[in-house]
Amino acid sequence: MTKIHVKTPLVEMDGDEMTRIIWAKIKDLLILPHLDVDLRYYDLGVTHRDETNDQVTVQAAEAIKTYGVGVKCATITPDQDRIQEYNLQKAWPSPNGTIRSILDGTVFRKPIMVRNITPAVSSWKKPIMIGRHAYGDIYKAVDFVVPGPGKAELVYTPAQGEPVRIVIKDFKGPGVIMGMHNTDASVTAFARACIAFALSEKVDLWFGAKDTISKRYHARFKDIFNAEIAARQADLDKAGVTYRYLLIDDAVAQIMKHPGGILWACMNYDGDVMSDMIASGFGSLGMMTSVLVSPDGKFEYEAAHGTVRRHYYEHLKGHPTSTNSVASIFAWSGAIRKRGELDGTPQVAAFADALERAVIDCIEAGIITKDLMKLVTPTPSGFRSTESFLEAVAGRLNKILTETVA
Ligand code: NAP
Ligand code: MG
Repeated sequence: MTKIHVKTPLVEMDGDEMTRIIWAKIKDLLILPHLDVDLRYYDLGVTHRDETNDQVTVQAAEAIKTYGVGVKCATITPDQDRIQEYNLQKAWPSPNGTIRSILDGTVFRKPIMVRNITPAVSSWKKPIMIGRHAYGDIYKAVDFVVPGPGKAELVYTPAQGEPVRIVIKDFKGPGVIMGMHNTDASVTAFARACIAFALSEKVDLWFGAKDTISKRYHARFKDIFNAEIAARQADLDKAGVTYRYLLIDDAVAQIMKHPGGILWACMNYDGDVMSDMIASGFGSLGMMTSVLVSPDGKFEYEAAHGTVRRHYYEHLKGHPTSTNSVASIFAWSGAIRKRGELDGTPQVAAFADALERAVIDCIEAGIITKDLMKLVTPTPSGFRSTESFLEAVAGRLNKILTETVA
């Protein structure tokens, strides 16, 4: 079979531990036999980051800016233990954080659905994607325990002009206060990334906040979203994508009765909490992908889980493992599909569809890794090893591709 040619280079970022092992197998078994693709390879494995003083992470992010699409393996964010384990110079920052800040991007999570795993919420038939605004609010707040009676004020001292003072509370006894902020620039970038992702996924966009109570802070978010939506209205109309602002409590209530197939944009705290609810409602970490989208439409795909350290240690001891590679495979298929869309090469996007179909067919036929044993109905008689699952997907993919060509 002739390989499918991918027009523009794809940025590939390798990673750590069990996901690194899986990564190489995905490439060998599922990608390289079928695609003629110029992979711009960046090794973000922790030792190589250390050797390059983390410059490789910056170079990878710059390459995503240049080419527009990247695919990333899970990586270690080093802490004190990891510094010793890998003999590192220091605790380098999280690569995801570095890439996110260079791209000014927002992370969206998307569950992978199969027929034989029923979400905890029975109305959920299609993925509910969550976009969390990952800047500011309580995550960059200052707070203070008020020891006793006294007046707490909010003071803004402008670069020029008179300070503004607002009384928060005239305390009669002890209590607590907190000062939090956000910036128009960050909220605007968030709104733009949400719009870009809703257009990319062709799903409706919801944004929930509490502007009835927070008439300035939350209302500012709502106003910025409205302005950004207005600026892209023609594109949204063309794609058939609608926008809805809801009060956050209304959004939460409606999500529980919704069939899914939407993007839910959340303020920072709501996104933190709700993304965990959605993730556990859909099943397993091994079945959750994550996409970083920049306001100007650059995309980086990865699995939502980490490097699956415990399984890696088993692997090092020579024990068999059963690690779920689905989210990593979907990171590849997501990136390849996006590459095909941007390049206007439908056969590349069709390959991504075939790859996802192969994975879903396997799971629906009861070919699964151990983590899915409690989720899949009916329960299969056994589970596959990490390698055997990937080999089954490769076999299925070959069959699908031969059938489509024939
Ligand atoms: P993890 O990799 O998310 O795994 C935690 C546990 O979840 C595993 O031990 C396993 O449970 C289960 N699990 C996660 N993914 C699975 C999969 N694909 N298949 C089967 N089971 C899966 O978190 P961790 O092991 O605590 O963290 C390891 C490293 O990952 C850390 O150094 C952290 O910095 C990094 N991390 C990276 C990213 C990223 O790059 N995006 C995200 C999160 C964490 P059982 O042990 O019960 O089988
Ligand atoms: Mg959380």
